[in-house]
Amino acid sequence: YDKLDGVIWYDGKLVPWAEATAHVLTHALHYASAVFEGERAYGGRIFKSTEHSERLKRSAQVLDFEVPWSVAEIDAAKQLVVDKNGKKNAYVRPIAWRGSEMMGVSAQSNTIHLAIASWEWPSYFDPEQRLKGIRLDLAEYRRPDPKTAPSLAKAAGLYMICTISKHRAERKGYADAMMLDWQGRVAECTGANIFFVQDGKIHTPIADCFLAGITRSTVIDLAKKRGFEVIERRIMPEELSSFSECFITGSAAEVTAVAEIDKWNFNPGSITKTLMEDYTAAVTAPGKAAAA
Ligand code: PMP
Repeated sequence: YDKLDGVIWYDGKLVPWAEATAHVLTHALHYASAVFEGERAYGGRIFKSTEHSERLKRSAQVLDFEVPWSVAEIDAAKQLVVDKNGKKNAYVRPIAWRGSEMMGVSAQSNTIHLAIASWEWPSYFDPEQRLKGIRLDLAEYRRPDPKTAPSLAKAAGLYMICTISKHRAERKGYADAMMLDWQGRVAECTGANIFFVQDGKIHTPIADCFLAGITRSTVIDLAKKRGFEVIERRIMPEELSSFSECFITGSAAEVTAVAEIDKWNFNPGSITKTLMEDYTAAVTAPGKAAAA
């Protein structure tokens, strides 16, 4: 993003972008006690805003803190930021974190903060590549066992392995990396869920140690409405050669075709294209999307 202007909602106040800062002894900066969301507004309305606000509250509870604003208050604050910044199509980033009063692993009574920013982020991946298919590296790090880390929450700490994996992939010329899980099964990408097509049926990993994306469930609903069978199952990397199409989903990534994962190739085809179109229709017509 290059336009660092507009306002950020910060603990209940709208402040200029440059003034929305935090202290260097912020607990979240040292110990990753932060949870966040990534959402998009289309035509001035945030798609599935309430689901994102609810997930933010749940992620915080997993990290043992309570966001001191209600889901309705968070929804209203997000909409206010989008309205004030005047961009009808925008990415929205709420973040909640433990503040700076106490420094140490334990910080039981530190203030919980909430900030909401929004900016223009037209396409997560190169728009041309989104249709032709992006290239994915195979990440070295694996999604942790839910007994090892709170792997179902959208918690900042879980993104350490995502950033490392994405940087390594980008240095090798890939757009992103696909991660396996702790058992060696296909899991997801560094900021998106993954789907495959085999004999006209859609296959996707069971979301038992990674984020069960809101876009993932939207796309599953859209696929079912089209009459496609969607199978959630354990997928091993050795099977990748048996899939014809592959695509990834996320609030930022939307529906993006994948042409290559490491040594495996896919042909962005009719199912991917149909779901890309259906997703675009759903996000721009919230009434229809709610019924999906
Ligand atoms: N997995 C990860 C690691 C993500 O960061 C995201 C983006 N929030 C997703 C999956 C997709 O989630 P959603 O569709 O809710 O944006």
